[in-house]
Amino acid sequence: MQHFFAMERLSVYNIAFKGLKEGVHEYDFHIGKSFFDHFEGSLVEDGDLELIVILEKRSSFMSLHLKFSGTVTLTCDRCLEPYNQAIGNEASVFVKFGETPSEEGDDVIWILPDENQINIAQTIYEYIIVSIPLRHVHPYDKKGVSSCDPVMLKKLEEYSRHESEKSDERWGELKKLLNNN
Ligand SMILES: [Zn+2]
Repeated sequence: MQHFFAMERLSVYNIAFKGLKEGVHEYDFHIGKSFFDHFEGSLVEDGDLELIVILEKRSSFMSLHLKFSGTVTLTCDRCLEPYNQAIGNEASVFVKFGETPSEEGDDVIWILPDENQINIAQTIYEYIIVSIPLRHVHPYDKKGVSSCDPVMLKKLEEYSRHESEKSDERWGELKKLLNNN
């Protein structure tokens, strides 16, 4: 139910198809922080993406072609500072009508038979998430220099050196104990 209410608030991502002429219809959307706020525990909290949706309506089928590009804000695995990750993707999905989905698949959006609009928020969110690379690090500039925060890197290096010294000390003490027995 909570999920349902969250989707209600995302009504800006509704595409009303009833009454549309057969053919191709284009829609533009902007995806920013308010979009990601609707997805609890999201890997992404902020972003700046342009999305183009092309709805193809025919007498026998309806499909959506989704294309997006822009950046999402992630936390760098290396220096732990936020950075903007460039992403982009496109996908085609079929729109099918039914009370319950009769087939599984990522490329189908199921809507109720009496529905007159499609909410694409969840689909878009999933495509954004799968477009994010596994490794999250600041990009390198043209000269091949990492854009990681040098101050943070230095702090982290000092911290890890300190931690390994502490563990060496503990290890030394343990060895002493073992040797004495
Ligand atoms: Zn970094």
